[in-house]
Amino acid sequence: MKNEIYTQILEETTRVNARLIAVSKTKSAPEILHLYHQGQRLFGENKVQELTEKQAILPLDIEWHLIGHLQRNKVKFIAPFVGMIHSVDSEKLLAEINKEAMKNERIIPCLLQIHIADEETKFGFSPDEVMDLLKQHKLQNFPNVAICGLMGMATNTENEVQITQEFASLKKLFDTLKETFFSGNPHFKELSMGMSSDYKMALEQGATLIRVGSLLFGKR
Ligand SMILES: *Cc1c(COP(=O)(O)O)cnc(C)c1O
Repeated sequence: MKNEIYTQILEETTRVNARLIAVSKTKSAPEILHLYHQGQRLFGENKVQELTEKQAILPLDIEWHLIGHLQRNKVKFIAPFVGMIHSVDSEKLLAEINKEAMKNERIIPCLLQIHIADEETKFGFSPDEVMDLLKQHKLQNFPNVAICGLMGMATNTENEVQITQEFASLKKLFDTLKETFFSGNPHFKELSMGMSSDYKMALEQGATLIRVGSLLFGKR
């Protein structure tokens, strides 16, 4: 485990008042505990089954974020405990999260995932789709969901100009939505962007949450 890298990324992140999510997918409980014992409490997983298995055996004060694509029929497994769902990409999924949150008598923090990459494979709303959703006041139907901001993934490329532009465009959309639809709403404040390869650019462009895995835990 790379303690020095952890300390460095944590320092870079807290310097700009952002938070580091340690992405622990495929990593074992002891590996996670190693970071936990250095003070890390925020962990991210991309699969529901892996998330629930780890949550059951690891310390209860870990805040677990789901960062990967979420199928509606699996929402019920994480609804009792999940700290935030980053990957909300449809109105149907919002409805399901709301239903399960209600059953658990809680409000589940969520981010709307926005498609910013120049790739077909990544999930998410387009900026136009998210505008439409908000214009139609659809969120009023989901009182047990707290929309806390946006999440996005940049294109998997070496082109740093392109990555920076994609992050900047997500930040711009975030600012526009905040002003237009969430003014006075204290929940809407998170911008989740940046992974091992591009977190520095993400922090420069205004990320409040970065999701870093392989740089902390080593290759998967
Ligand atoms: C795996 C994953 C990450 C972290 O990726 P690394 O390159 O290992 O830092 C971030 N976000 C999502 C959605 C992921 O699935």
